[in-house]
Amino acid sequence: MDLLDTLTAKGLRREIPTREEALAVLATTDDELLDVVAAAGRVRRQWFGRRVKLNYLVNLKSGLCPEDCSYCSQRLGSKAEILKYTWLKPEQAAEAAAAGLAGGAKRVCLVASGRGPTDRDIDRVADTIAAIKDANEAVEVCACLGLLSDNQAERLKAAGADAYNHNLNTSEGTYGDITTTHTYADRVDTVNKAHGAGLSACSGLIAGMGESDEDLVDVVFALRELDSDSVPVNFLIPFEGTPLAKEWNLTPQRCLRILAMVRFVCPDVEVRIAGGREVHLRSMQPLGLHIANSIFLGDYLTSEGQAGQADLDMIADAGFEVEGAGQVTLPRHRVDAAEAAGHACAPAGGACGSGGGCGPCGGHGEAAPAAGSAPVAADGQDIAPDSAPNDELRSDLVRVRRRGAGTELAPNA
Ligand code: SF4
Repeated sequence: MDLLDTLTAKGLRREIPTREEALAVLATTDDELLDVVAAAGRVRRQWFGRRVKLNYLVNLKSGLCPEDCSYCSQRLGSKAEILKYTWLKPEQAAEAAAAGLAGGAKRVCLVASGRGPTDRDIDRVADTIAAIKDANEAVEVCACLGLLSDNQAERLKAAGADAYNHNLNTSEGTYGDITTTHTYADRVDTVNKAHGAGLSACSGLIAGMGESDEDLVDVVFALRELDSDSVPVNFLIPFEGTPLAKEWNLTPQRCLRILAMVRFVCPDVEVRIAGGREVHLRSMQPLGLHIANSIFLGDYLTSEGQAGQADLDMIADAGFEVEGAGQVTLPRHRVDAAEAAGHACAPAGGACGSGGGCGPCGGHGEAAPAAGSAPVAADGQDIAPDSAPNDELRSDLVRVRRRGAGTELAPNA
């Protein structure tokens, strides 16, 4: 297939595809799916080998957010029966982080719900980073605390944070449909603040909110423009009690096409399968590893993932290996470029990606569904939509997190 040969060649040269090529990936047929995965897999192996980076989420503060992100189970007015608690103590967070690190994670993502941190919150997170790094010097710490004010990124950097996550989530054109309490420009500003402070920037998207293919391509090209070190790809978890509870728009095949499109547009950055992996990729998760080089281990912010051991078994069974603490995630040229620019890039490894404090990985939920464009095959014929019909609600697949941080029960790692 000429399209895939072209995209593979461009990915191996770190050359950006055209928008039309990115859209064509999303419009491929099921008959072409394994070829799409194989092509994206070649690009993935060129820059990341067969390594899989494991990241571990610690939800420092859960629920009761004043913002109204429609996808989020922690939003203002959410009826989702999630855990709700205020800031974990540093030693509680360090204990949760230690479980993830013992399970094989090399990065801990510290997430807090809310519009953004106060200066006092930055102090709390600084104490938490110290508690984690005192016990595990080599660990990478990514903070995800929402919109940053001036100098907060610098303070996090000084406290030992390696990265900051803040997702764009969707296209600029549809952002106002999913959130009204802050803007797309606010989010871009925070990613730039993090980058400017020398933190490794992590920013990604949520698919499945009713967006069009054009919206997906828009946000992925915007992420490429931001030049984040990592791009978490979340698949909407339609939580009961959130506005998007009925938005079951994804199939495993659709998820793989989206991952492949992200890999082709961002060939040499960490592409992470984030929230919704188990819910939407289901038995196709191992194919996702051929495209993405990073996942979360264990549970998400407000929902449960599959058992940590199942993640490890899946990686081994698929012929991949867990990336060690001493291995560098990003390709050498990105590390060199970051060092030259005075950015952290990624100390011993790649970058973050979480959600929550302002991204997914735990609960998401409504926006006025944008009309999806009808997929068209390479020969110009209409093909069957690969989105699941909205009436196939699979709320049985969503399990609210009841263990780990904020509970008396051991974490899943
Ligand atoms: S994504 Fe972040 S800011 Fe938005 S509602 Fe959820 S916790 Fe609040």
